[in-house]
This record gives sequence, C-alpha cells and structure tokens, in this order.
Amino acid sequence: MLPIKSHQLYQEIILLKYNLIDLLPLYECNTNLNFPSSQVLSSQGAVLPQVNIDRPAPSSSISNSCPSIDIVADLIDLLIEAQQVSNRLKIIASALRSVDNIQIYTDGSLQYDVSSMATMGFGWMVVNNEAFEFSASAILWPSSTKAKMLACLSTLMVVPVNATVTLYTDSAATITGFEKLDEFRNLSARRREKILNFQLWMTVAHIIECKCLTVNMIKVKAHSGDRLNDRADKLAKEVAVSAPRLNIIYMNLPGINVELTVDNLTLETSSRKSIKTLFEAHYFSQFLNLHRNADIKLLTEFHHLNWSATSFMLNYNISANDTASTSFTQHRLRSFKYKIFSEELLTLSRMRRRRPDVYPDDVCRSCLMSTESQFHFWKCPSH
Ligand SMILES: [Zn+2]
Repeated sequence: MLPIKSHQLYQEIILLKYNLIDLLPLYECNTNLNFPSSQVLSSQGAVLPQVNIDRPAPSSSISNSCPSIDIVADLIDLLIEAQQVSNRLKIIASALRSVDNIQIYTDGSLQYDVSSMATMGFGWMVVNNEAFEFSASAILWPSSTKAKMLACLSTLMVVPVNATVTLYTDSAATITGFEKLDEFRNLSARRREKILNFQLWMTVAHIIECKCLTVNMIKVKAHSGDRLNDRADKLAKEVAVSAPRLNIIYMNLPGINVELTVDNLTLETSSRKSIKTLFEAHYFSQFLNLHRNADIKLLTEFHHLNWSATSFMLNYNISANDTASTSFTQHRLRSFKYKIFSEELLTLSRMRRRRPDVYPDDVCRSCLMSTESQFHFWKCPSH
C-alpha cells in the first residue's frame, strides 16, 4: 500500500507538459538513451571523455595554454539549447575575453505566474563593466536555490579561460555547493545522483575544469541596501516570466550517459528514485484496479481518501521490535488491518459463501439476530 504521493511525479510531469506545449516542438523525437558520440570540444581537438555510469568522471586533460574564445563559445553551444540565450552569452563572452579578474553580482528568484505555475528568473551583472548584464528564465524543477545556481552557472559560461571569478550571491546553499565541488567530483554516479540539482553541479564542475577557472564566492545579505545586489535581485524578479528560457543539455556532459526523459523533458532527480516511484505508482494503480477495490478506487478518484494517513495507519508499528520484517506479531496485526480495510474478514457470511456444506447458516453467534456480515461485525449489540 502506497501513499498517494506516488502520483505526484505523474501529476508534476503532466502539469509541466501542459505548460510546455509551446516548447515541445523544439525537441526532436528520439529515444531516451543518447550516448554522446565523440564531441569535439575545442579548436585543439580535445575530445570529451566518456565515462561509465558507476565511475566518477576523470580529470579533464584539456590544456589551457592558450586562452581562446573558442572553448568559451564551444561550451556555450554544447550546453545551451536556446539560440537566443546562447547568442547573448557569446556576445558578453566576446566582450570579456581579455578580462582575467571578473566580479559578478548574481541573483535568482522563484515566482508564480497568473496560472500559479512556478517560474525561475535569474540575472547577473558584471561589476567591472555594469553595461554587461544577463537575464533568463527557467521553469523545469523550480526552486529558488536552483534559480540562484543557474545565475552562477551562466556567469561561468561567459568568463574567459584561466580567469579568476568572484561571484556575489545571497544563496548560502549555492556557496556551500561550490565549496564541496571537489568532493562532489569524486563521488560515484550513484552517490552523486542523491545530491540536489546534481546535473547543474556537474555542469558547473565541467565548465570550471574545462576553463581552469578560479571561483571565489562571496555571500551578500539579501535586501541589505547593496546597490548592485538590489539591481541583480530586481533583474531576477522582472524576468521570471518574460525572459527567454535557459535549458541545459545535460547529455553533452561527460559522466552522464543515461538521462531519464518524459516527453523529452529531463528528470532532474535521482534516476533510481524516479524509477522506484514510478513502479510504486504502477503497483498502486494495479491494486486500485482490482475488482474488489472498486469502492476504494471511486473514493480515491473523488479525493475522499487520505492515502498518506491510510498508509500510515495500515503500516503503523507499535513497538520498535515490530518494525522488523520478520516479526510475526507485526505480520498478523498488519494482515488483520488489511483484511478490515478491504472487507475481507472471515465472517460467517463469507465462510458460508465459500463452504455452504460446512456452514449451513450465517447467523451471528453472539446475538443470534442477524447475518454476520462485515458490517454487522462492528454493529453487533452483543459485542
Ligand atoms: Zn451479532
């Protein structure tokens, strides 16, 4: 028995799909497994390494002896899907090509549009030259941390090779993530997937590695009167609905060989967990479709059943000992609860239906008044 939560994944996907109809034609129909085939990354002919799924990505062997705008532009083309966004990033990258110490104020925000659809807006501006600012939006798997991360990630795309970048952000989670990037790189694919926004962190790690960047993070207090921070904040809030969307093509990252997609939308969660949730939802649906559960199914469809509470009640264990899967007490109690729940208690009326030869009548032995049915079991005056 599973909580209704299992359906949330489906629901989220369907909602997303509904809001993404304008975006879908941009994608080609292809299979879920896209193995990157020998992508040439730079003008020096370095090829991105391909890694098996259960091994951490090896260090890149790309030499950065000659700072080149080509690596920067190639990385933008490799990772950014929308032409409009990548062109804007390339223009800024080209203007910043000779600056090796860059300071950038970043911010991102999570907003809800008129249809209550969450959208993320993010923006940044270069302190060295405030004329250079960038903003974009994103809607998949929204969170305010993700918006702030996307802001930082997109700054790394425009800075030149070997640069020192100082990023100002008010997101403590993003700063912690950058601090733990080395640790993250060495994790196996399986452990990495457990980290929130792992595909974004892989993108960040890949860009830093390819470009040999030194990144310093500085925490600014939100709404503290810092002029540039307030400007970044305003930019992020203004663009959430209007700015072009930034989607990252994760399949072009080394180390990601499998991507789970639903109608070409990448699942940005652990693939193991997603598959588990989908199977749980599948079994739950099979259970509801059993003939004997017709009533329960109807109640579920009309939202009259709180499945989280029901599941808690059915699987609740009284003592710590009972949580053991081998506990007989727990097994008996649980099967009793399930029988009550699905009206399968062995009452006389049920027994008589099965073996009329053994049970000649089904009158309740306690009150000798009416049939001992599932309902009477609880209503019997003699109990
Ligand atoms: Zn009775």
